[in-house]
Amino acid sequence: MKYLSTRGRAPELGFEDALMSGLAPDGGLYLPTRWPVLAPDDLVALSGLSYAKAAGRIIAPFIGDEIDADALDTMLRDAYRDFRHPATAPLIQIDDNLWLLELFHGPTLAFKDFALKLLARLFDHVLERRGERVTVIGATSGDTGSAAIHACMDRPNIDIFILHPEGRVSEVQRRQMTTVMAPNVHNIAIRGTFDDCQALVKAMFNDEAFRRDMNLSAVNSINWARVMAQIVYYVTAAVSLGAPSRGVTFAVPTGNFGDVFAGYAASRMGLPIHRLIVATNRNDILARALATGRYRVAGVSPTMSPSMDIQVASNFERLLFDLYDGDGAAVTESMTALSDGGGFDIAPDRLERARDLFDATRIDEDATLAEIARVHTETGLSIDPHTAVGVAAARALPQDPAVPVIALATAHAAKFPDAVERATGLRPAAPPPLAGLLEAEERCQTLDSDIAAVQTYIRFKGQPNA
Ligand SMILES: *Cc1c(COP(=O)(O)O)cnc(C)c1O
Repeated sequence: MKYLSTRGRAPELGFEDALMSGLAPDGGLYLPTRWPVLAPDDLVALSGLSYAKAAGRIIAPFIGDEIDADALDTMLRDAYRDFRHPATAPLIQIDDNLWLLELFHGPTLAFKDFALKLLARLFDHVLERRGERVTVIGATSGDTGSAAIHACMDRPNIDIFILHPEGRVSEVQRRQMTTVMAPNVHNIAIRGTFDDCQALVKAMFNDEAFRRDMNLSAVNSINWARVMAQIVYYVTAAVSLGAPSRGVTFAVPTGNFGDVFAGYAASRMGLPIHRLIVATNRNDILARALATGRYRVAGVSPTMSPSMDIQVASNFERLLFDLYDGDGAAVTESMTALSDGGGFDIAPDRLERARDLFDATRIDEDATLAEIARVHTETGLSIDPHTAVGVAAARALPQDPAVPVIALATAHAAKFPDAVERATGLRPAAPPPLAGLLEAEERCQTLDSDIAAVQTYIRFKGQPNA
């Protein structure tokens, strides 16, 4: 399989090079040059397979012959081995026609484990063959850092440095990172804000010499392999509820548009998806864009669902590229208008095409709490605020009674105990990955928000390519 850039001015790459480079040199995001086809017979053949086996069948065409099937199967088995549910991504019915797809049984209790566990193994596999190491650096305000650390902690060819703002992540979130004692894992608490952390990471990537010496790499959601890994659970969930003979609707709590784009990819591959519901919290740029065609940046306002508090949904660029039939110049024009003027308009005919599949709605904080309470009253289950946004969106929009609706449960309730307690009066019990966390030893280096200090530390602790 070949990959091209959404901006149309970068050479096509094979899977491994697209994996290792993340962002394309023209500033675009990589997409496959064509969508592999999931024929009805392929879908039928998935039923009864383990999650890891099904994943191998679904993603193999995206990789082509660059990684052999046995190696891929081993990586997949290994990636999903420590998920705490035998189904890996189980479906739970919560209403007549409404299901939860539980994506929080991985080691850090959020769906990001699905993609990052596989991504780290793919990275390591390629590095091993090439005889290279990488230094992964990233800034986190919460979920992504811990998922990246848990994915990389046992990888021999990766060092990982995660920056977080000192005193500004929750204690649970911090401890999920700082209690990992693997020698290749380095936590840095920055005396500053999340924006300071992000600015430091960006500055390190822009320092050519440092970038080359340390062979820097990122694991953020613009990497194609993260989207690819997420296609799998859309397919397995739909097959469980009757695909290919019956279509399904998905409701997806959305921030960066990465997860819901994976659903779009599954649809392009032939999975019978009736509707894709883009559910946002009050940071509703995507809901506004799909309603009006005007994509306009507004200020971010903090919510109970912090992983969806975003300004710019970077993966939306991938949808635009498809809506514009692969016209990189049109995408470049929109993205330039976004960075120069804070927004762009989607042509009406292209918007109509998006609306053929997507619905979108925004759920405010009160409705989020009300949904957590309702699910608890009706089923006894505790859901987290991100999940509640998706479930509430599914209920708020008119649904075809013949089509099952699957709401993605993206985090475990115990990760957001304050919001859940506010809604239900009960604090959710901590599952095994959180038990003992508050007593475990922590390791973390605190540094000033100073690029030289951070680079010196990373050079000292990391293992530069000699
Ligand atoms: C990251 C995250 C989201 C948003 O996913 P995107 O791919 O950015 O749209 C939703 N819920 C949780 C719990 C997350 O961690």
